[in-house]
Amino acid sequence: MCNNCKTKPVYKLNSGEQLCKNCFFKYFEKKVRKTIRVHKLIEKKDEIAVAVSGGKDSLTVLDLLSNIYKENKNIKIKALMIDEGIDGYRDECITPTKEFCKERNISLEIVSYKKEFGFNLDQVVEGRKPCSVCGVLRRNLLNTYAKKLKVKKLATGHNLDDEAQTIIMNQFRKNIEASARLGPMNGIEDHEGFVRRIKPLYFMSEKEIMTYAFLKSLTRNFKECPYNKESYRNQVREMLNNFEELYPGTKYSIVSSFMEILPALQKQEKKGKIKSCIKCQEPSSQDVCQKCTVLDQLKFSQ
Ligand code: SF4
Ligand SMILES: [Zn+2]
Ligand SMILES: [Zn+2]
Repeated sequence: MCNNCKTKPVYKLNSGEQLCKNCFFKYFEKKVRKTIRVHKLIEKKDEIAVAVSGGKDSLTVLDLLSNIYKENKNIKIKALMIDEGIDGYRDECITPTKEFCKERNISLEIVSYKKEFGFNLDQVVEGRKPCSVCGVLRRNLLNTYAKKLKVKKLATGHNLDDEAQTIIMNQFRKNIEASARLGPMNGIEDHEGFVRRIKPLYFMSEKEIMTYAFLKSLTRNFKECPYNKESYRNQVREMLNNFEELYPGTKYSIVSSFMEILPALQKQEKKGKIKSCIKCQEPSSQDVCQKCTVLDQLKFSQ
């Protein structure tokens, strides 16, 4: 029985508390609202673009933010989708995402690699690590288009599981610099070239999001990208899932203890100066930005 209203439960929390569908929705929304409030993710008069992939995480963010700020005329929520050109995966997410946004009256901007760079991801991955190419290009387009849409922040669907995995991967690989860029709101403070990224689902587990998306029928598509074979992350994911099973609350402990040391990490890593890429003028830590480097490598080998 649900601990609050004694109806049929659908979800059991780590504490052992059971929740019915309605109480689960309330619990979920309350927790996300708290993350937004405590970490000041969204403030008065913010315009937000949600980076949507059509998967459960990003549609959950879009659904929640559009509900939370429905009555608030000062906060505007838009959606931004990147079409990498992945046959049988991304193309299948586009139509349902268009419908999702139309039903909720949310403006959706779709930007494709094909139109921006002249190729689909599928055409350039042979002999390369698809995620290295894809990640750099997508980050660049999200930032460029968030600026074009004139939004203050870019919301992504990163969740507790993703963050716990990244923290552990960075520890294992001694990549503290990368860890300093994590947290519920990343990006460089007050740099006009970067739109700050916010993660409203920062403290929500994959299991909770899966349940929310399923119960709200947000998507029927739970497919993974066919290139998602990043074996190191998958191994860390499996290890953390095993630990979570044995010791519930492990992922939360990793992320919340990381939050305590994050301010010190950020202070230490703040020294790096941001320049403008000599080719495209986008902000970069090197003379030539990562996007231009990747595009040059692709051009060279074609
Ligand atoms: S899994 Fe890799 S290739 Fe697929 S969308 Fe993500 S970054 Fe791109
Ligand atoms: Zn209930
Ligand atoms: Zn560049």
